[in-house]
Amino acid sequence: MKNVFTPRRISQAIVLGIILFLTISHLRFGIEKAAPIDAYCPFGAVEGFLTFVATGHYLQRIYASSFIIMGIVLLLTLVFGRVFCSFLCPLGAIQEWIRALGRKLGIKKDLELPSWLDKYARYFKYLILAMIIYFSYQAGDLVFWAYDPFNALMHLGEEFEAKIVGYSVLGILLVVSLFSKNMWCRYFCPLGAFLGIIKKISPFRIKRNKRTCIDCGKCDKVCPAGLDIANVAEVNSADCISCLGCVKNCPNSSLKATTFGKEIPKKIYGWIIISAFFIPLGFFMLTPFWQTKAPSNIVTSTGELNLENLRGSNTLQYLLDTTKTPLAFIQEKLGLPADVDKTMKLKDIGIKYQIKNSQGALIEAEDFRKVVEEFNK
Ligand code: SF4
Ligand code: SF4
Repeated sequence: MKNVFTPRRISQAIVLGIILFLTISHLRFGIEKAAPIDAYCPFGAVEGFLTFVATGHYLQRIYASSFIIMGIVLLLTLVFGRVFCSFLCPLGAIQEWIRALGRKLGIKKDLELPSWLDKYARYFKYLILAMIIYFSYQAGDLVFWAYDPFNALMHLGEEFEAKIVGYSVLGILLVVSLFSKNMWCRYFCPLGAFLGIIKKISPFRIKRNKRTCIDCGKCDKVCPAGLDIANVAEVNSADCISCLGCVKNCPNSSLKATTFGKEIPKKIYGWIIISAFFIPLGFFMLTPFWQTKAPSNIVTSTGELNLENLRGSNTLQYLLDTTKTPLAFIQEKLGLPADVDKTMKLKDIGIKYQIKNSQGALIEAEDFRKVVEEFNK
């Protein structure tokens, strides 16, 4: 029986568990106590890099934590290729697990694009990457979050209307994953595209020994990236996610993985990757450099109010304390009850008390923001 508790599977499950914990903490305790999941996403550093270089400021929702995680991921990519995709990405893991479920349900053959289309479709993710970097820089914010299936996954059904595109993409992706291998990673993932560019300068390679290869095609079958391995002397595609599935499953040991010209020991490879990611991460988390959020999301470091940053996960009490707006003023403008629970998050108040704004929609953070701005005029 195939061992499913490989270091790679264990790493994927641990990362998914940690991310779910962070997500639930943020959703439950709000931005004042727990940072949003964006703060732990390395792609935030890619999106915010230009802004940081040009202005010295982080994009909204992005802090040093994203840059630290991205720094570690970049070094790993330079040495071992796209191990982030195979060991650490929750969306990659979920797609693989769903495809495995599909196989168990009897869907044995992978649904693939015709090879001529597949070849060109793989470039689509680079276009998405370029657009995201450009528009994030222009807007000074994460422009991809509303369309991002990973962001939707990590909101567990919350903010459905604001992220309807992201939830729809996620839904399609989960269904397609039953039939097809890692569609998102291969054609659409902007982080995969970025790491693919870095991978091109990495010395990591998969080499095939033509003399001992028996042309069984097993390597092609297990490759989550849908690459042609059985017919090449060396795999150096940007789409290889360095899972080493091909190397481990080759019945004749005709494949070997190398970096800097040295063979990588396949038996301890997984543990090397896990240690190389988690040990430096743990170290940085103990230093003052590790920062996942600002002390306040609506008061800048110079003490000014920045209500653009007000979130639905801020509590009413926090809004009152930081903006010094009298509760009576907000109650009068928004029609809040006299005994309104001030510990509630702004996004929950409209729902709990069924209070609507002039457009007939339940009140949200935006409505509170307008009232506070009116008071401060
Ligand atoms: S199976 Fe081999 S070629 Fe395919 S992604 Fe994994 S390491 Fe790369
Ligand atoms: S799995 Fe090994 S023996 Fe089979 S085709 Fe691939 S390289 Fe050749």
